[in-house]
Amino acid sequence: MPDIPSVLTSAPPTLQPETAADLASRVFGIAGTLSPLGSERDQNFMVEDGSGDRYLLKLSNAAEDESGVTYETDALLHILRTDPGLPVMEPVTTTNGTYWASVDTPSGTGHLIRMFTFLEGTPAAAPDLDLEAIAAFGATLARLGRSLRGFFHPAAGRKLLWDERHASDLRPLLEHITDDAQAALTGAALDRFDARVLPVVGSLRAQTIHNDFSLDNTLMGPDRRVSGILDFGDLTHTALVCDLSTAMSSVMFGRDDPGEAGEAVVAGYASITPVEELELSLLPDLLAARLVALIAIAAWRVRSFPENREYIMGSVAEAHSLLAWLDGGGYADLEDRLGAGSSAAPTAVSTEELRERRRVLGSAMSPLSYQRPLHLVRGDGPWLYDTDGVRYLDAYNNVPVVGHCHPLVSDAIARQSRALNTNLRYLHENSIELAERLCGTLPDGLDVCMFVNSGSEANDLAWQLARAVTGRAGGIVTEYAYHGITTAVSDLSPEHWARGYTPDTVATIPAPDGHAGVHRREDPNWAAAYAAHLDDAVEHLRAGGLEPAALFLDSGFTSDGILVPPAEYGRDVVDRIHATGGLFVADEVQTGFGRLGAHLWGFERFGVTPDIVTLGKPMGNGHPVAAVLTTSAIVDRFAQTMDFFSTFGGNPVACAAGLAVLDVIESEGIQERVMGTGNALIDGLRVLAERHSSIGEVRGLGLLIGVAFTSDDTGRPSDAALAGRVMNGMRERGILIGTTGPDDNVLKIRPPLVITEEHVDLLLTTLDEVLRICNEPGGETPGSS
Ligand code: PMP
Repeated sequence: MPDIPSVLTSAPPTLQPETAADLASRVFGIAGTLSPLGSERDQNFMVEDGSGDRYLLKLSNAAEDESGVTYETDALLHILRTDPGLPVMEPVTTTNGTYWASVDTPSGTGHLIRMFTFLEGTPAAAPDLDLEAIAAFGATLARLGRSLRGFFHPAAGRKLLWDERHASDLRPLLEHITDDAQAALTGAALDRFDARVLPVVGSLRAQTIHNDFSLDNTLMGPDRRVSGILDFGDLTHTALVCDLSTAMSSVMFGRDDPGEAGEAVVAGYASITPVEELELSLLPDLLAARLVALIAIAAWRVRSFPENREYIMGSVAEAHSLLAWLDGGGYADLEDRLGAGSSAAPTAVSTEELRERRRVLGSAMSPLSYQRPLHLVRGDGPWLYDTDGVRYLDAYNNVPVVGHCHPLVSDAIARQSRALNTNLRYLHENSIELAERLCGTLPDGLDVCMFVNSGSEANDLAWQLARAVTGRAGGIVTEYAYHGITTAVSDLSPEHWARGYTPDTVATIPAPDGHAGVHRREDPNWAAAYAAHLDDAVEHLRAGGLEPAALFLDSGFTSDGILVPPAEYGRDVVDRIHATGGLFVADEVQTGFGRLGAHLWGFERFGVTPDIVTLGKPMGNGHPVAAVLTTSAIVDRFAQTMDFFSTFGGNPVACAAGLAVLDVIESEGIQERVMGTGNALIDGLRVLAERHSSIGEVRGLGLLIGVAFTSDDTGRPSDAALAGRVMNGMRERGILIGTTGPDDNVLKIRPPLVITEEHVDLLLTTLDEVLRICNEPGGETPGSS
């Protein structure tokens, strides 16, 4: 037999109102009219004194001991101190200044007697509450849990049968259940509980909780908000989340869609106290445990108190139907709704509908990726999940450099956003620390970090600095470069130029493509020949009356098709721009934060020191934060004519994200792993190239990799159509990649840096299959599988 508390077996006291009135006046000095109030195990009266004030007089069950009573009293006093706004009853002192007294009743039994202030309101029934009221109910519960966080009491260790953590102890009571369906459902629920909850229950955060926060034990005002929290008789130290599963059971009773009520109460709770992943995943089973307790304890008690059958069995039918709902698909419904295992908000909007509604973003918005666009709801490491729970290996997105939704980064953002988010007109350690750490990774001399919010802004500021410092107005970029969207920077982005547009202030150089460009590897001097074009660009600017202020280079030539020229090329062009008095801006928006493996920053492989370095994309793993790093000398000259401020740039939350990204890169050895996985991927792709003649070239460094498709055996002419079919074929088979290059014939492979060799194998096998199908006569039609 489980450990049955004696308050459940012992009958409540039955004092006459006159006797109780006498006690109220003698013990508490409050004389008034008494009316009886219901209670399962105690005897309660409402006391109205002469002045119209109302109180609750409580005579405890004879089996109630002093430790339980002091536990409740101390908890109430603690709550009133920590969150005085919570509507709990205030203990009233006796004429001796104590919070309770022991009295003998005429029958000779001793009872503990207490008096409290009276709470106004009426109990509500679940079906009468809208979702807003249910969410507010959850929020009140979360406040109650918070207010008790720091509370300790020697009686907290008592073991209650109502503690969902101990649901397995209910098993012996199941034999009292006479209804076969109930017996089967409760048994199955406990089997699930033993398998899923028991092994991990000890690792849940725990504290004293109310443990019976239900609609029966709360009062509501006319606004449907909790106006009174009653009955602290089940207080115990247990998993915090048990409060929530108990509240869920109560609001889900008798509703047409119990799941939406469960979801609403959890959402309301989470608006005050975030619910941990493990807690979310256990909630459906803890809810079931609560229902089993309701059914099993009632079945057992009704045998001892048959005369009280109606009261005891009051919620059994509801509990049974909710348990049947869980068993018939409700577990899965709740898991989906609560997003157990994810923090993604569940979505009710169809993909098609969203696609229609996307018009609101305007016709200039870049098109959706893939012929069958993706509607994603969740990310985790290298994986993305769509609304149907289908997962995709992300081999395209370079922003989530440490993996999608890395918990340390997400937590850092959440924590800082709960504490403070301001701007750089106030001191904050996050911005200073991030700036120092970034400067510490760069060559000596690059000792200033200016924060902005995007790669475009970083390049725009770099351009302003370069022009201000050199007093010149000309820019040099590669032929298909992309550096951002501002008016100034889009002039530096030929990839972005409107057809026929060439800004007067910008000259281009051919990107160093040794495979299909103007100088090829057959020429031993091909790289130097590319570098020499820098001088042509300078001449071009001079012909228009301009001198070069800066050369901007994306160290990975991403939009030029992903190119890896020899290091001498980089040194050569940088020497040439410096020789003209212009600056070198290393755009690390794509290649920064370890993507190329051997170094944290892409320019490092050239062995050069840039005058300005711009960072963005991966810097916050998805949170907008970007920066310009340069020398004090450059900034000091700029500062002679203007100062710089960006409202959001370098705010404490953005910098918390940036710091967390650096922490994870270091602690998980991410940059060190890139070379290994990158080489395995490049080697595997080269093996595929031997089998598939449509691959003209595989090139890349670390995890920035391009696969150029070609339409004939010379390996030169571009085949953009094939690249598109392959990209869509991969998407259909669960792997996301993109295309790039002036001809759009290059597969762009840029996964989060956390991918491992297993992911690499998956990518290679899938690409092999897709290429086989695409190269067959009739080929792959995207979306057909
Ligand atoms: N520079 C490079 C090399 C980029 O690839 C990009 C974005 N693709 C940018 C700058 C602009 O960054 P953002 O989109 O954050 O403004």
